[in-house]
Amino acid sequence: MQANLEGLDGMSTTAPQTSVAALHNSTVAQQQPARFKSPRKENRAHFVAAHVAVLLGVHALALLSFVPWLFSWSGLIACLVGIYAFGVMGINIGFHRLLTHRSFECSKWVEHALALLGICCLQGAPSRWVALHRIHHQYSDSEEDPHTPLVSFLWAHFEWIMTEDKNRYWLMTYDKYAPDMIRDKFYLAMDRKGLWFFVYVLHAAAFFVVGFTGGWLLPGGSLAQAVQLGSSWLVWGVLARTVLVWHFTWSVNSLTHMTGYRNYETNDESKNNWFVALMSHGEGWHNNHHADPRSAAAGHRWWELDVSYLIIRVLGSMKLVSGIVPVRTKVANRYGPDAKRQAKKEVSETMIAGSTLSPCGMDDAGDVRQSRAA
Ligand SMILES: [Zn+2]
Ligand SMILES: [Zn+2]
Repeated sequence: MQANLEGLDGMSTTAPQTSVAALHNSTVAQQQPARFKSPRKENRAHFVAAHVAVLLGVHALALLSFVPWLFSWSGLIACLVGIYAFGVMGINIGFHRLLTHRSFECSKWVEHALALLGICCLQGAPSRWVALHRIHHQYSDSEEDPHTPLVSFLWAHFEWIMTEDKNRYWLMTYDKYAPDMIRDKFYLAMDRKGLWFFVYVLHAAAFFVVGFTGGWLLPGGSLAQAVQLGSSWLVWGVLARTVLVWHFTWSVNSLTHMTGYRNYETNDESKNNWFVALMSHGEGWHNNHHADPRSAAAGHRWWELDVSYLIIRVLGSMKLVSGIVPVRTKVANRYGPDAKRQAKKEVSETMIAGSTLSPCGMDDAGDVRQSRAA
């Protein structure tokens, strides 16, 4: 880990000179990438009944939010606040930028609190999420990538989650991709004992109880109103919000590797997609993220709004987090074929010179590979 951080320090000092031009139209000039056969059709991946049942079941139950009897304004607010509390704080800031990429530092209790918020999004145990995402960075858009849309949009969006893939199974050794996670007894317990799922169920029950109590105690409250408001909080505050956050996260895996513009010539198909960035509160600036995975900010231009990063800065001003890793690459305002050619050369050199393959596959590991377009 130390060697890795030294490598990153070296990169940060050289980054301004080895900056990358803004390449809005670079995707046009790129060669069409090879497509891959579905791992299911190759008999490498098979549906897992429990995963299919949970995914389809939660979607079906979330549809209850369209039943008028289950609507309440407080339930809707619980849903919207929950997107920030659990989706942004838990997944974007906790699981992704902190646990996977170590984009900032914080105390253990803050880290575990953020991880608990992420667990309430029903996206699996933190250590598993981290290992899979580090594999994604290392093998991005190659056959080993767990969720490349070069198989298909649906595969990248959610089909891969419903399957167990032999490739993924062999790659996903926590020793290699998440050693920092399994050293922590908290994450070990969450993963190995399946506690993460119980935490999710418990928080769902808590939402019902809060709604139920509110319906009971409010002026003129009754048992019927208590059941109605409790159910509303469960459907809107938990199920609908879980599905929304799922699709925000999944869109980063699918859409931002398919459509958008590129600031950097990374060795994958990552793009910056303003729609996904807006929906996912910053995660959609995915080409920027692949170019500089450790930086806390995913928006690299002034107008690339990254709400998750702004929240990290607020947490920093509250002294809850520190050591926020700055952006180490620079988007220069240069256009034209010469700038593009030079930029491709520069980013290739930067990635190779500035990266040190860490034992857990984090950081720029995926970008060390030679550019496919070169
Ligand atoms: Zn990606
Ligand atoms: Zn990442």
